[in-house]
Amino acid sequence: MKAAFLSGIRQIQIRETPEPNLAGRRDALVKVETVGVCGSDVHYYTAGRIGSQIAEFPWIVGHECAGTVVAVGAEVTHLRSGERVAIDPLASCGSCDQCRAGRTHTCRNQKFLGSPGQLPGALCEFLVMPADCCFPVPNTMTPVQAAVVEPFSIGVHARQLSRVQPGAKIGILGAGPIGLCVLLACRAEGECTIYATDLVNERLEVARRCGADWVGNPNRQDIVASISQREPLGLDFVFECAGEQETLDQGIELLKPGGTLLIVGIPEQERVSFNVHALRRKELRIENVRRQNRCVAPAIELVGRGAVCLDPLVTHHFPLEETQAAFEMVATRRDGVVKAIIHVHR
Ligand SMILES: [Zn+2]
Ligand SMILES: [Zn+2]
Repeated sequence: MKAAFLSGIRQIQIRETPEPNLAGRRDALVKVETVGVCGSDVHYYTAGRIGSQIAEFPWIVGHECAGTVVAVGAEVTHLRSGERVAIDPLASCGSCDQCRAGRTHTCRNQKFLGSPGQLPGALCEFLVMPADCCFPVPNTMTPVQAAVVEPFSIGVHARQLSRVQPGAKIGILGAGPIGLCVLLACRAEGECTIYATDLVNERLEVARRCGADWVGNPNRQDIVASISQREPLGLDFVFECAGEQETLDQGIELLKPGGTLLIVGIPEQERVSFNVHALRRKELRIENVRRQNRCVAPAIELVGRGAVCLDPLVTHHFPLEETQAAFEMVATRRDGVVKAIIHVHR
């Protein structure tokens, strides 16, 4: 089969590699159709690593994927061949303290698709995954939407953690794919007022189409002053989705006493700082968001019944052969790219 191998920094080659075997009785063999390019994949592309996770070349990345089941192991009962599925890229052990506590996303023995030392990624023609990671999607869902289910499930998880109530005033700082997925998840659940910010104007236009009530670009205006003018009492929730010190600071300034800051963005640097007196005086709550936990099914349900439309996020399409061009585009944020999709099997 063909696979897109990361062969060096900013180098991707399409190579032949053996098809994986369906060995496990609880596994499924999936023909990969679509793979979304994630910011974390691009980190491996531009830097060869994310923190202590170091890619040894050649390495296959990609984890936002969807496809069609080709075959299943003897003990699999919930899937049949020919069924289209969205994939949860995290395989958990099911027996550690975290799994037993319902925190499969922080499983001590987790294997994540496209993570060095764990599982090779999805940018290839066929993939073997635990069947429990394969979620059938309704026929009305396109393969592109099915691939975007994975980042959207992170938005659903962030929203669930936040305990956002109808009527809430919400800030989303950073309107990249994950910020937009948080926006869609909040918008789907009841009336609320959403303020979204980003440095890229095209992303703000997408945020509008995803249901933001107000958008602002910190290059053009003072975000804290502009939002505070509209919400003098402050915001109930801020989702920091940029991974920047500046947006963490803005979030703390924007929140009302008793408000909640959700840290969704991944900072480049090891440490960030907080104005501890502002945190204390306003008695703010801080929640960290790590990927998602069992939110693939609810994400499919929201999209399937038409409560959420993922289409505005998807801006570019590439065949597998042009994976490098897709990664280069996302790395340089050229052409107003939000989510680029690679079509593996057409
Ligand atoms: Zn991702
Ligand atoms: Zn576990």
